[in-house]
Amino acid sequence: MSESKPRNVISQKLLVIVILPMLLLAAASTLIGYRLTLNALEAAKKDELQSAAIMTEMVIDTLIPGDYRLEGDGSLLLYKGDEDITTRYDLVDRIYDMTGLEVSLIYDDTRILTTVYDRNKARYVGTGIFDKVHDQLKNEEGTFSNTLIGKDRYYAYYHPLFNSDGSYAGAIELCSPYSSISGLAWVPVIVTGVLILVVMAILMVLILNHNKSTESAIAKLLEFTKKASSGNDAAELDASVLGRGDELGGVAASVLEMHRSLRDMMDKDALTKLYNRRSANRKLDLIRSHYENDGTTYSVAIGDIDFFKKVNDTYGHDAGDLILQTVSNILQKHLKPLGFVARWGGEEFLMVFDKIGIVTAEKKLWEILEEIRATEVSYNDVSIVVTMSFGVACEPELSQDDLIKIADERLYYAKESGRNRVVSFVPNESEYKW
Ligand code: GH3
Ligand code: MG
Ligand code: MG
Repeated sequence: MSESKPRNVISQKLLVIVILPMLLLAAASTLIGYRLTLNALEAAKKDELQSAAIMTEMVIDTLIPGDYRLEGDGSLLLYKGDEDITTRYDLVDRIYDMTGLEVSLIYDDTRILTTVYDRNKARYVGTGIFDKVHDQLKNEEGTFSNTLIGKDRYYAYYHPLFNSDGSYAGAIELCSPYSSISGLAWVPVIVTGVLILVVMAILMVLILNHNKSTESAIAKLLEFTKKASSGNDAAELDASVLGRGDELGGVAASVLEMHRSLRDMMDKDALTKLYNRRSANRKLDLIRSHYENDGTTYSVAIGDIDFFKKVNDTYGHDAGDLILQTVSNILQKHLKPLGFVARWGGEEFLMVFDKIGIVTAEKKLWEILEEIRATEVSYNDVSIVVTMSFGVACEPELSQDDLIKIADERLYYAKESGRNRVVSFVPNESEYKW
């Protein structure tokens, strides 16, 4: 069965979740930014064109007073007052020189004078304005629009001209290449775009960095659960995962807790909370390996509660359980700093004294027995006292089974010789008929 590796999936999803909306935001703000800037630039340009148009009208009216009219049969000429102004380009050129803006004098709907040249360096004389603009000019004071002169696009303002009888004569057209506005509008947009891109890049680095630590914590957690579920007792969860202080750290703590409870369930006895026989064998193996490595000694004892069946028969099974728990607590209290104690069978316990020889072990066991004898267990208003018998052995060179067997034989001797005692020696042990 092939194992799929879900690597970097979280990072990729996170990037999509964050970067996609950021890109949309960047696109939207770029478009909106461009439109708003363009609007502002157009408004400013309109003011500039309007002032120049009014100035143009004043200049022309001052230099050449009178109404506009056409005269002639075949080729028509434009007159203002008494003067033929059909070719008076100086009138518009003068304004162009002053403002840099393209100026045209329109009669009705046709450019008569203009500063706009075509590709062949000829003025766009005789070209028309849009019908829409022409219609509007007759009714309204001024209008502006994007307009085409030849093939070029201009931003234009039209200032209508009226003769003295109030009739519409034409217009002054002021315009500026549209690219001069639209080109400028891109500047803030590009600046904003670059800024957004930089912010996005920083964000991406931060997200990936943050995620790297999350992913590594998840990988460590996964590794731990794999090891733990395959029964590896040495499995350890990296402290950095537990110390994260976020939800993942919480999950890790729960997983560890679950692992500990499972291990306790497997290794410990439910009633007494002592190690069970299975884990006791493993722990004893470890202690024995120290002896094999460097000769460190150890002692083993088996203890059994005296006449326990009688306790059960007299006070009931629950009272028996309570006695087992009380005795276990006393044994645990004494053995914890010295080695370990395990529930070996029903009311039988295995005690291992690590780095401790027979003399000290026996002395400790007598102390333990003293405490057990002196302990009264209250159950349903009766006070129960029990005693115990112990057999102890310190022959570290023997196999685990043989050593326990000797401790067991000494326990048997303790029972035979009156119970309520510790036995570390049996006279003529080798000849003793067990
Ligand atoms: P001895 O002094 O020779 O050891 O006598 P004894 O009565 O203690 O020994 P015996 O082996 O005859 O009886 C042991 C009793 O322990 C029998 C069994 O019901 C009881 N026992 C074993 N496990 C438990 C337990 O978990 N709870 C209770 N209440 N009793 C248990
Ligand atoms: Mg017993
Ligand atoms: Mg027994």
